[in-house]
Amino acid sequence: MAYTYDPNNIFAKILRGEIPCNKLLETEHSLAFHDIRPQAPSHVLVIPKGPYVTFDHFALEASDAERADFVAAIGQVCKALGIQPGEGGRGYRAISNAGDDGVQEVPHLHVHILSGRSLGRMVGRPD
Ligand code: AMP
Repeated sequence: MAYTYDPNNIFAKILRGEIPCNKLLETEHSLAFHDIRPQAPSHVLVIPKGPYVTFDHFALEASDAERADFVAAIGQVCKALGIQPGEGGRGYRAISNAGDDGVQEVPHLHVHILSGRSLGRMVGRPD
């Protein structure tokens, strides 16, 4: 079954400039902006500019340039936020929710970068 990308999702609208975002940084193939409902003192979303639904979709179908750019953008976000454990930062959690079991709300790949407090256990039970 092929991936189906919905061009009307909210991140596609941000990428087209139809709705605003609080941008942290932008690269050739990626965009990073602050989450509108932060779950930690700092909550940044990193997205590719291309039409990819999930991490696996991106990993399997993006170009080498897009993949390299996206990984580098995540590194740049960590650096900009000063959260790299190897550089004296207190660390972070990177999460990408996919599909129904992953409880993905927006069907455009995004990696959440959460930081600014201890984030507790990795996975909770459903409410
Ligand atoms: P997920 O459940 O992984 O799909 O997460 C989607 C995230 O997108 C949530 O954390 C939302 O708060 C966030 N979000 C939704 N709309 C916007 C928006 N317009 N700007 C920034 N973040 C948003």
